[in-house]
Amino acid sequence: MRGLERPPPSADHSRMNDSASGNAALAARDLQHVWHPCTQMHDHETIPMLPIVRGEGAWLLDADGNRYLDGISSWWTNLFGHANPRLAAALADQAQRLEHVIFAGFTHTPAIELAEELVRITPPALDKVFFADNGSAAIEVALKMSFHYWLNQGHGEKTRFIALTGSYHGETLGALSVSDVALYRKTYAPLLLTPFLAPSPDAYEGEPGESAEQTAERRLGELRTLLERHAHETCAVIVEPLVQCAGGMRMYHPSYLTGLRALCDEFAVHFIADEIAVGFGRTGTLFACEQAPVSPDFMCLSKGLTGGTLPLSAVLTTQRVYDAFYAEYNAGKAFLHSHSYTGNPLACRVALETLAIFRDEPVLERNRALAAHLARRLAPLRDHPHVGDVRQTGMIAAVELVAQKAGRRPYPAAERRGLRAYLHGLRHGALLRPLGNVVYFMPPYVVSTTEIDLLVDTAIAGIEHAIAD
Ligand SMILES: *Cc1c(COP(=O)(O)O)cnc(C)c1O
Repeated sequence: MRGLERPPPSADHSRMNDSASGNAALAARDLQHVWHPCTQMHDHETIPMLPIVRGEGAWLLDADGNRYLDGISSWWTNLFGHANPRLAAALADQAQRLEHVIFAGFTHTPAIELAEELVRITPPALDKVFFADNGSAAIEVALKMSFHYWLNQGHGEKTRFIALTGSYHGETLGALSVSDVALYRKTYAPLLLTPFLAPSPDAYEGEPGESAEQTAERRLGELRTLLERHAHETCAVIVEPLVQCAGGMRMYHPSYLTGLRALCDEFAVHFIADEIAVGFGRTGTLFACEQAPVSPDFMCLSKGLTGGTLPLSAVLTTQRVYDAFYAEYNAGKAFLHSHSYTGNPLACRVALETLAIFRDEPVLERNRALAAHLARRLAPLRDHPHVGDVRQTGMIAAVELVAQKAGRRPYPAAERRGLRAYLHGLRHGALLRPLGNVVYFMPPYVVSTTEIDLLVDTAIAGIEHAIAD
């Protein structure tokens, strides 16, 4: 296990396993051939690669038997716990009936029922469902569909998109094009489309003394100016409703969405709601758009759609958009986008079972109590000399670390303060994975209040560790 640093033995993490199936052996084999996402692989000379062998509820178990509380729902996908028995049973049953079938010219009950159910639970007027197999692919579909809608309507001059500063919509070239997180975008910028950027309504960036609602109002004014200049060449405005997640869990007032809907109508551009991270109960309502409330022209869903079990995404849109493509074959208006695994029956079936859990259990109600508990536990951090902000929207909470509280001067990114909190968390049984200087909590909905306590206590100790010089 050359060059790998294990979490130092502690009261919590004393178990070691030098066998061929232990952490060390698996990590060494992994690093021989596997290239991991969002990772400078060189980091693994000092940071442990953790082989996970089991999941149970909110917990992950590594090959040495250590347990980690999954405070970030494994990249925001997991809703009802790892190896959830209901989802596993649905998957096993479907696997014995039909694992996959071409989705052009053929269909199947899981996809039909999932489309019916998604139309039923999403905001009004989203009546058509196009499937893809991950979040970025859903964004590609929405961007292409919006452009193609306008083209079919005789407006081929509409080729641009408006995105918010600090936005993240995925990392394939189209999705990355409408993203504004420098870490992911900068290197590939020469390959990308250039969107118009509208200033984010992010409340953290508000003027001193300004309420979140006032910030949203002011930012809508700036968006209006942009639309006045560019609406004629713009297909759509794309936003992450309420929380810009990968951009640092930046949050904004729902009135921005209401205003955005009105502006999109006024200027004849589409409204694309990327609910890939915030959908399925994360923000306190089933979908974040409900808090405005608004119906977008396109809604992108993924991550929690299968409860964190399988990759699947869906783009919902309106009858009106659908009709612009509906014509005799030789009119050449059909939408052109296909993935081999479109509408995969296994994924659709697990998604249906995920939605059944929402019907059978008081998920949102339970989440409200959990979110309130999390808020109470985080409140004292507001007074911490190196905390610039504690913010929360439903089951997403974030603590912004700052070098200096006055003026909220950020720590230089190169200091990797968040990484220290991450490593501290792992040593104490919690998976926290800060985004730069933002320590956040996005646990599965099956987390208990005691487990939230463990996450918060570990995070607080981790923060102390991170700010120590
Ligand atoms: C994660 C995410 C995506 C991309 O989804 P992938 O499945 O990772 O490609 C898009 N938009 C938002 C808001 C996300 O959080």
